[in-house]
Amino acid sequence: MMFFHGVAVSKGVAIGPVFKPRLEVLGVGRDEVDDPEREIARFREALATARAQIESIIERLRDQGAETRLGILESQQMMFSDESLVKSVESGIREKHCTAEYAVSQVVDHFIETFNNIDDEYLRDRVADVHDLGDRLMRILLGKRESAVTRLERQSVIVAHDLPPSAAAQIDPSKVLGLATDVGGATSHTAIISRALEIPAVVGLGNLYRRAENGDMLILDGRKGIAVLNPSKELLERYRRVQSEELAQLQSLRELRDEPAETRDGFRIELAANIELLSEVDAVSTHGADGVGLYRTEFLFLNRDDLPGEEEQFEAYTVVARQLAPQPVVIRTVDIGGDKFLSHPDVPVEINPYLGCRAVRFSLSRPDTFRTQLRAVLRASATGNVHLMFPMISSLEELRQAKTILAECMEDLDEQRLPYDPDIEVGIMIEVPSAAILADQFAREVDFFSIGTNDLIQYTLAVDRSNPSLAYLYQPFHPAVLRLLKNIVDAGHNAGIWVGMCGEMAANPIAVPFLVGLGIDELSVSPVNVPLVKATIRAIDFRRAAMVAEELINLRHPDEILARLRRDLPSEIHRYIDLNGDEETPDMGDEPEPSPDVAETGR
Ligand code: PEP
Ligand code: MG
Repeated sequence: MMFFHGVAVSKGVAIGPVFKPRLEVLGVGRDEVDDPEREIARFREALATARAQIESIIERLRDQGAETRLGILESQQMMFSDESLVKSVESGIREKHCTAEYAVSQVVDHFIETFNNIDDEYLRDRVADVHDLGDRLMRILLGKRESAVTRLERQSVIVAHDLPPSAAAQIDPSKVLGLATDVGGATSHTAIISRALEIPAVVGLGNLYRRAENGDMLILDGRKGIAVLNPSKELLERYRRVQSEELAQLQSLRELRDEPAETRDGFRIELAANIELLSEVDAVSTHGADGVGLYRTEFLFLNRDDLPGEEEQFEAYTVVARQLAPQPVVIRTVDIGGDKFLSHPDVPVEINPYLGCRAVRFSLSRPDTFRTQLRAVLRASATGNVHLMFPMISSLEELRQAKTILAECMEDLDEQRLPYDPDIEVGIMIEVPSAAILADQFAREVDFFSIGTNDLIQYTLAVDRSNPSLAYLYQPFHPAVLRLLKNIVDAGHNAGIWVGMCGEMAANPIAVPFLVGLGIDELSVSPVNVPLVKATIRAIDFRRAAMVAEELINLRHPDEILARLRRDLPSEIHRYIDLNGDEETPDMGDEPEPSPDVAETGR
């Protein structure tokens, strides 16, 4: 039995035989050629074949409606058209009089080295794309068969050093029980795809690929980020019990899909979903959410050389609005900055990006870009129930400036006779302490609030939300945070507007009774978290939750607050939480502690 620790990227437990897709390294030597132009012609032909191969996979995935996986292949398709890559290979062949294979391997290696040296997790994760692209070209040039995970005959857990994106995109969820890779981070393709397919996954497992053999038994714990190779009988039995309980719970949560998010005494909450990618729209309905409470549009702007134009944005927003109408869709203007950066040279690097030119500050500093987005959102409002939201508002002046530009956009659309909803609801994120404290003033100038606890907590407690070594100070149940939340909800209600929450705190079943007790009107969480939050709301009593919330406001310590909330949590919700990773890490039984080279963390 060997234990491996990695990064949990997709929930659930997988148990099954290992399948290691054969991903050979295709190396070539440097051979001189007499006729470089002939090699260039071979390269161009290979390029055309590669494009056609990707195109046919795209067609197949499109037929299956596999949107997330499609996006990955479409971005690879664009890489094949990348001028600098094509030119580098061609000039390499001409200058070195070498084979097309050799030039491709050199250029791909150079790209990989450059990407690897960039201090950006997302870009480093894209190395897999370049690898994949080089691998495909080399196979075509060398006349080799395509490597594929599609040849899986029985249900297995895929173990790979890294999974090429085109292979990940073709995964058949009925055959693949789980995904385990030695490298990769939270934004790697394996992570994105496994979450979209809802397959348990752990990445960054260090040296599992080298240790595992095809057919070995593997437990993959996507809740804790653990893999256990050839587990003991006891551990296997224990995990099988966890797995079957998990399945039963999933099944009972699924049954709530069409039920309202209503407390036992009839207090109704809007339970919406947060989305980032267009491909997540289906998951909003399949998990039983009442629309979208936060559409993070910045993902349309990232990882590209240009900015999305009005038409492209309009199309994206319209897809979501149309598909979910009459349910509401809250579209948030871009939150660039913080930990989400544009790859443009004219966006300055800041020493403290979370306190820098982020979100609405970025939009107001680039009125043309802001107008393009506002026009697209406004036009989409004619196609569904669209609300508009500004992120990171910290002063009334900022809000007024944003609203002035919005009014100008409406006038322009009127002149052009382009339709939009003139009564579109306009709200703000409350995620900066100044806005939380002055919530009564803001409430008079907007139609709704959505509380962004991810940022509100970090700014209130002065704790970087993405710094793991400070995680112990990042306390959603800090008394100061609770008081701010109460102030925001009360201020909103006194002014007659609705108040929601789209930060991660809304997805925490322990926090839900407190939020419901405050009288919050809406909660918005990731689609996969909707069922458990709904189950929690349906298991509690509003009047009791209101009483407990009142009590909590006067407690002084986060531990005291947590203990009080846990004590009151219905037992069936306790069981869900325990199963989802709150319980102790499995005991290793009588096995010796794993030696360091076995229990690699990969981080
Ligand atoms: C938040 O801050 O809570 C929020 C929902 O916004 P983001 O996580 O995108 O900053
Ligand atoms: Mg935020």
